[in-house]
Amino acid sequence: MERINLLDENTANKIAAGEVVERPFSVVKELVENSIDSNATSITIEIEEGGEKLIKVIDNGTGIFPEDVEKAFLPHATSKISDIDDIYRIQTMGFRGEALASIASVSKVDMKSRTVDFDFGKNVTVDAGRIEKIEDIGANIGTTVVVRELFFNVPARKKFLKSMSREYSYISDIIYRMAVANPEISFKLIHNDKITLTTYGTGEVLDAIRSVYGKSAAENLIKFEEHGDVASVYGFIGNAELAKGNRNSQSIFVNKRYIKNRTITAAVENAFKSFITINKHPFFVLFINIYPEFIDVNVHPTKSEIKFRDEREIYKLVFSSVHSALRQSLMNIFMADDDKAEVLKAFSPEQAEKEIVQLPLDFKTDNEYPTFQPREVLRERTESITPEPDDSLSFAVPPTWSVQEAQSSKKAEGADNDARAAKLPDLRVIGQFNKTYILGEFDGELYLIDQHAAHEKILFEKYTDEIRKHKVIAQLLLTPAVVELSNEEHIIYEENIDLFRNLGFKIEVFGQNTVCIREVPFILGKPDVKNFFINVLENLRRMRSGNTVDVKFNTIAKMACKSAVKANDNLSDIEMKALVEALKYIDDPYTCPHGRPTIIKFGLNELEKRFKRIQ
Ligand code: ADP
Ligand code: MG
Repeated sequence: MERINLLDENTANKIAAGEVVERPFSVVKELVENSIDSNATSITIEIEEGGEKLIKVIDNGTGIFPEDVEKAFLPHATSKISDIDDIYRIQTMGFRGEALASIASVSKVDMKSRTVDFDFGKNVTVDAGRIEKIEDIGANIGTTVVVRELFFNVPARKKFLKSMSREYSYISDIIYRMAVANPEISFKLIHNDKITLTTYGTGEVLDAIRSVYGKSAAENLIKFEEHGDVASVYGFIGNAELAKGNRNSQSIFVNKRYIKNRTITAAVENAFKSFITINKHPFFVLFINIYPEFIDVNVHPTKSEIKFRDEREIYKLVFSSVHSALRQSLMNIFMADDDKAEVLKAFSPEQAEKEIVQLPLDFKTDNEYPTFQPREVLRERTESITPEPDDSLSFAVPPTWSVQEAQSSKKAEGADNDARAAKLPDLRVIGQFNKTYILGEFDGELYLIDQHAAHEKILFEKYTDEIRKHKVIAQLLLTPAVVELSNEEHIIYEENIDLFRNLGFKIEVFGQNTVCIREVPFILGKPDVKNFFINVLENLRRMRSGNTVDVKFNTIAKMACKSAVKANDNLSDIEMKALVEALKYIDDPYTCPHGRPTIIKFGLNELEKRFKRIQ
């Protein structure tokens, strides 16, 4: 047997540091929590090389008394509690009095601090836990802690650090959350001399959210708030637009402390799911204020988890608060018209579309779906293609998507080409909803197909395929479109003559800065040729530098399909079947060219739950 040793203080601290100081992120968190506890209204965090080289936290808080500056580095030195009962009344972030001691034992620390009662401050220099120097110094009120060369004396720990950018992302993540939780404090975060976050300390959570997550996030939030006997809950939940495949944009703060908690997460997500049927995790920022005696914050070394005395009570409070906020916002849809517009906007897929249109490279037009000029007569070039039925109001499913065609293409290619395998089940088409969605069923599931998105994708794949194979089907315009161009537009046209040819345009130059468009891709349907052409040129202008031909083809193909398709059309049964059949066999039927879903489904289970047939 080995004999028992009593560890010296330094070794004990190094081991303890392992619990509190796992990586640069933990140092930053502890230091910023100290700044928050000192009632700072402004906190600046400077990081170099992911925190391994330098972490500097500057606050304008109360500072430390000159005689206490040295003490702050002793283990179990804290001004925040004096006996164990205080833990159950704790209002501060820190209380264990071990952070500074731990940090100092594994790095080189400089701490400068001054309180309002003194004209001078103190500066302490600590090296691997040993106090090297204490001196008087002129300083602003508040505290500045500089941590250099973290883990320089614990190589084992240093080895476990990840890349600089990974370590920095942990840091920015926690600072972003602390900034949201403390909107009355102005935060500034700097990495390698670049400012990465500024909040303004307005006191409004929404302002902090805007600084951290951006303007469009702040515009897609619904507020919730409810007060129970022992706790209050409030915060913001994002609509479907902000939902994500992961839970990174969810934050729970209990008495302003960022924590993880499954019960609360489940409560919010369940409330969200009862209204919004997407398989993603909602964005939310949630605050619980609770009497400290109803929680235990001392269950986790980095305090990232806490225990509630009554989890069920908390679940009920959170669920009910989020649920009623969402219900209210949906109810507004059926109530006052003003509210209706707002909520509809927030919840509708059009919102997503609008955002896509706002992307710098995308097609921009006042009119989402260009209306066709009724008098423009088109003559198809290829014999096999029958003219479109009726007038411009008919849904532009090109006749190629007849049921027979779809089936024969399946037969022709199905055997030797896996890419042409059916990617959707054999849906029974039930009908059309709102002239926008095709309803179908298969095997106890209800399918909804966005006819516009689906059609766009079918056209897109067909067109890009034609481009790839240099076999774009063109249509001859009976009345050629004569377009006058600006100087710049003309230059762009000339730079891209080949591109236009490959895309299925036949264009002739027609005097100074004027072109005459004789043929356009068939896929365009009955286009507003002039506007489309000008828009393409505009996009090409923006894509001028550094874009490959493929990117250009892709962008223009997206534009073409977008302009070819309209929503809000009555479809006959045959048209619906043809569309569904065509969708089934394209390469990727599940999303439109802009990445939105073309098809969603509801399980019977889900519906029965909604009808409370099952629990
Ligand atoms: P704890 O925060 O758990 O009390 P720390 O080791 O983090 O323990 O800090 C020790 C003490 O040093 C604190 O209790 C506080 O009195 C003082 N202190 C640390 N940082 C600051 C700061 N930025 N401003 C004012 N006082 C500070
Ligand atoms: Mg602390």
